[in-house]
Amino acid sequence: MPELKVLLSRETIAKRVAEMGAEIDRDFRGQAIIFVGVLKGAAIFLSDLARNVSLNATFDFIGVSSYGNRPIARDDPAGHAAWDSLGEVRLTKDLDQSLAGRNVILVEDILDTGLTLNYISKLLRAHQPKSLHIAALLDKPSRRKLPIEAHYIGFTIPDEYVVGYGLDYAELYRNLPDVCIVQNP
Ligand code: 5GP
Repeated sequence: MPELKVLLSRETIAKRVAEMGAEIDRDFRGQAIIFVGVLKGAAIFLSDLARNVSLNATFDFIGVSSYGNRPIARDDPAGHAAWDSLGEVRLTKDLDQSLAGRNVILVEDILDTGLTLNYISKLLRAHQPKSLHIAALLDKPSRRKLPIEAHYIGFTIPDEYVVGYGLDYAELYRNLPDVCIVQNP
């Protein structure tokens, strides 16, 4: 069994997500927005973020699978999990509605190499939305392979494999209320 160490407590997350909601409220005052969540990892973040926004808001979800993305054992003294991405992103669930002329907030759990969000934002731009902003709960800038940035970032974290609050390890741990580092996977 991997050991888990709390990196971000549920209280810390709740406070920051409320601040992010307030920022979105300010930036889009008087306008409607659509949240587009990336399944499955962003589901919990999206539901909390949306409840901290008081604008007219609708939801949609997009599914992608990043084949080749997997945690790999790394030979470091702490035994931390490393994250290897071969960069193959494939659409598994398309949007249910058009985004043409709409204010889109693309909601993702974590921005790592940037390959996933680069792929999805290109796809969404093809709909010609009025605006496209990215909200990512977590950002690992040290791992970036493509120059893509989020407009709303919850936390910048080090290069560690994390689970909880929607993020999984082999589909487990998504329901943990805290974000935890996986040690000795
Ligand atoms: P990117 O395409 O930016 O490299 O990776 C984005 C996706 O990789 C995320 O949506 C997430 O599914 C996965 N990912 C990247 N880092 C982590 C991590 O530390 N923990 C988990 N559970 N997933 C991660």
